[in-house]
Amino acid sequence: MNEAKKRVQSDVESIRGELIALSESLYRNPETAWKEIESARNVAGVLHRNGFEVTENFVGLPTAFHARLGSGAKRIGFMAEYDALPGIGHACGHNLISAMSVGAAIALAQRAHELGITVEVFGTPAEEGGGGKIEMLDRGAFDGLDFAMMAHPAPVDVARAVPFAVSHSAIRYTGKAAHAAAYPTHGRNAADAFTIAQVAIGLLRQQLPASVRVHGIVTSGGEAPNAIPQTTAGRWYVRAKDMAELAETEEKVRRCFEAGALATGCELEIEPESQPYSDFRTHESALKLYEQNAVELGREFVTEGPEMQMCRASTDMGNVSQVVPAIHPYIGLDCFPVLNHQREFADHCIGEVAERTLTDGATALAWTALGLAQESMV
Ligand SMILES: [Zn+2]
Ligand SMILES: [Zn+2]
Repeated sequence: MNEAKKRVQSDVESIRGELIALSESLYRNPETAWKEIESARNVAGVLHRNGFEVTENFVGLPTAFHARLGSGAKRIGFMAEYDALPGIGHACGHNLISAMSVGAAIALAQRAHELGITVEVFGTPAEEGGGGKIEMLDRGAFDGLDFAMMAHPAPVDVARAVPFAVSHSAIRYTGKAAHAAAYPTHGRNAADAFTIAQVAIGLLRQQLPASVRVHGIVTSGGEAPNAIPQTTAGRWYVRAKDMAELAETEEKVRRCFEAGALATGCELEIEPESQPYSDFRTHESALKLYEQNAVELGREFVTEGPEMQMCRASTDMGNVSQVVPAIHPYIGLDCFPVLNHQREFADHCIGEVAERTLTDGATALAWTALGLAQESMV
């Protein structure tokens, strides 16, 4: 291990307590997408106390922030996600994402001058729906950034992110209510529209490639059994291997929803809930560097089997990776078969194993950035 790596590691070690305290404070006050007021403030606060120049309300988003230290020409950015899941708190470990990125940034920033880099942290809200990073991208938040990275908690370590591209749609049918026994012929049944759409989607699956997922829920199916449902609503996701396949599949799924409207005489509205999340473009040599660094810390990567499936989860980091060279490795909490988005997963995002994951993740990320800068790969 070279001298610079040793110093980075001991710098992460020296702020270990502060990082754990940050992770725990986020954990104990879970805030959901776009409402991460305290969380953003906490994460930015630690960076500010460690000498970073912080811009709150970054690019006009109240729960986004930007922090920077150094003035080198090459700009390396760490992403800090901090939104929680409705009802189940930090069951995706975003508290650890923030702490790892903050730890990596603070440790790396000690050498920003000698490396000729600027170290930045982007507070990125609303990853669990909302597409915070996509909104930030559109507002120029990552313009000129040379590299973007983060590590995401998972049951086990998996280096490569292979997320589905995904679109999120709100579906609404409007028909006409009528007494279901006395005047049924006067009604247009908005619940039946969903039934037809779901049957059509079910049949469509025969012709869909294995790389596609279509899934959704009916959130409002009618008011009373003796009234023909006038309005129904649902939320549907379409996932595919890339944006082109996503667009193609969305068109087919749209026709299924239209079939429901056509057959029942209802009106159909489809509204996107956020911009679509993209597939991921990995910076290969940076990923290799990250893998070597993680292995050097004693971590082991899983390359097959159900444990590694978290690498398929969609992320708005995909959109960033299409524009800025990036990596998004998964770092394990050694908890399989407990999985992300389960209540039990939250229990693993705090405590001894989580703390080791936190410091390993911060160190591996900082080492990777260090390597990129030393080898002039950014
Ligand atoms: Zn998640
Ligand atoms: Zn997540």
